[in-house]
Amino acid sequence: MSKLMALALFICCWLSSGKLQAQERSTISHRTVELVRLSNVKWTDGFWQERFAICRDQTLPALWEIMSGTKHKPYLEHFRIAAGLSEGSYHGAPFNDGDFYKWMEAVCAAHAVDRDPEWDAKLDEIIEIISKAQRADGYIHTPVLIANRNGNMEVKPFGDRFNFEMYNMGHLMTAASVHHQVTGKVQFLTIARKAADFLDEVFRNPTPQQAGHAICPSHYMGLIDLYRETGERRYLILAERLIHMRDRIVDGSDDNQDRVPFGQQDEAVGHAVRATYLYAGIADLYAETGDEELWESLTAIWDNLVKKKMYITGGCGALYDGASPDGSKNQSEITRVHQAFGRNYQLPNATAHNETCANIGNVLWSWRMFLASGDAQHVDVMELALYNSVLSGVSLNGTDFFYTNPLRQHNVAPVEMRWSRTRVPYMTSFCCPPNVARTIAQVGRYAYSRSERGVWVNIFGSNTLDTSLDDGYRIKLNQATDYPWGGLVNITVDTAPTTEMSLFVRIPGWAYGAKLVVNGEPREVTPGSYAEIRRKWNRGDEIELTLPMEAQLVEAHPLVEETRNQIAVKRGPLVYCLESSDLPHDVNIQDVAIPYDASFTPRFDKSLLGGVTVLEGKAEVVDAKPWGEELYRPFKPRESKEIDVKLIPYFAWANRGKSEMTVWCPQRDE
Ligand SMILES: [Zn+2]
Repeated sequence: MSKLMALALFICCWLSSGKLQAQERSTISHRTVELVRLSNVKWTDGFWQERFAICRDQTLPALWEIMSGTKHKPYLEHFRIAAGLSEGSYHGAPFNDGDFYKWMEAVCAAHAVDRDPEWDAKLDEIIEIISKAQRADGYIHTPVLIANRNGNMEVKPFGDRFNFEMYNMGHLMTAASVHHQVTGKVQFLTIARKAADFLDEVFRNPTPQQAGHAICPSHYMGLIDLYRETGERRYLILAERLIHMRDRIVDGSDDNQDRVPFGQQDEAVGHAVRATYLYAGIADLYAETGDEELWESLTAIWDNLVKKKMYITGGCGALYDGASPDGSKNQSEITRVHQAFGRNYQLPNATAHNETCANIGNVLWSWRMFLASGDAQHVDVMELALYNSVLSGVSLNGTDFFYTNPLRQHNVAPVEMRWSRTRVPYMTSFCCPPNVARTIAQVGRYAYSRSERGVWVNIFGSNTLDTSLDDGYRIKLNQATDYPWGGLVNITVDTAPTTEMSLFVRIPGWAYGAKLVVNGEPREVTPGSYAEIRRKWNRGDEIELTLPMEAQLVEAHPLVEETRNQIAVKRGPLVYCLESSDLPHDVNIQDVAIPYDASFTPRFDKSLLGGVTVLEGKAEVVDAKPWGEELYRPFKPRESKEIDVKLIPYFAWANRGKSEMTVWCPQRDE
């Protein structure tokens, strides 16, 4: 064989194997578990039913009030102007379109079970306006469209990498996929498909400069949502191309997770929302393609997050501002990071950034890690973030929001804070409120999942499940529990396949001593895993799970300097905190210490904070002299006295007016 023939054969094989590989990748799912549909799960009572109802009845209308008007910044109005239905200019953050799509997604999810004709019609009207705003070639991003409509043709698509076009279009794709799944209507999905087709055309052969346009990349998740909803492989292939084009960036930074190719990354770095959205999108891609190099990086980064960079609340992003790679010997490669992960074990409390969107990003990412792996540890982290640092982002009445979620608050902050230290109805960066709304509206979809072997019970709450398995068999379950206040979970089979099927019940990693009983028969369980119960199920079969709900004192790794010699308290999935509203007026929150042998008793108080289980116990108040302006002073042994304290769930803090709060308290050894 001549060298030329050998070369030709090599190229031929390489091309055909590449093509084959692309086809294989797009047809074989690597998910261990599958999603259930939004309409399959209905909350019937208890914790999540209450949160869901507040979201549907209070949060969504409050957000609509803001986003449909122009009192703060225009949202819907931008689409109207871009469509030529109204006049004006663009004024707002460049990511407002995406935040409006998130609200639309939340509305769809909230009405997935009991379709409300009024909201359905409202969405139709909005979708008609968005459709009119979209360019014929599929491009849709109102800052550019409005500039063009007003005669400024200098402004072009993808002229500025910080214009958040990908973020906006990604949220469009996700919202439209959810809308289609819930309503069966195609108009919104058609808009999203046209936008995806536009990206396909523009990024066919991306330059390194174009590759830098993925800021806060919701579009990887969006494209794969679109692929799953339409079954069209080209959206998956486009997502893969857009993810791999990141590796061609030559002037990237850790702030945007593109300083080095993804395959070389093993640490959570940079802007925490951008990071978690990126990792979530890549986990989606792995679930479809099984690209092991991606999984290797994802698992290394996820381990880094959970073992070295995540708050006890599941919060993500320790720093308002910092530098990365921190401490590099090559100083020229160090750049600024903002709203970002810090270095390993750098977890300050009072200045913790923990943007609500980043904590939601943790949920999105950990959930997708679970879909790929079927590993309960990913749901443990997802549940932790949901119950603590995501729910803390919204007030109990559903209408006020935190941008940041610190673990300690003093009246006097150590530095001036960029964001409000109380929850507010509106903030200039309005990404978090619709994000928390769409998350709460979709917790039902996290509650269960499916696989070839059966149904997985992931998140506990009183609900009904009505879904079909791959072989077409219908399964209906009833779950009754007052979790997370109580640890008893009862699951009753209503309808089951006529063949054998497994029910996988999650045993949380913290649940040492959990008990599982099936029709009166005890089963062995291992915390941090799923207990698989395989059998032929009949109507009326009962599963009883009892989770240990003792309050637990927690300490942090000694390298976390900000929590040295301090204790936090957890009960089940909930992190607790001490709030000044529950202390006598003459007690300074900083002087309250928790004895190493303290025990706390749970008591459900239906009149407090909408009904929460508080933890009551004894603490010590140290008689510390008030501080002046001195930074240091001679230490003198101090007296202490015992007081009664009451701890509340962290997510419920800051709902009783101005207060001080701390998750971590000094530890008292004797
Ligand atoms: Zn946000």
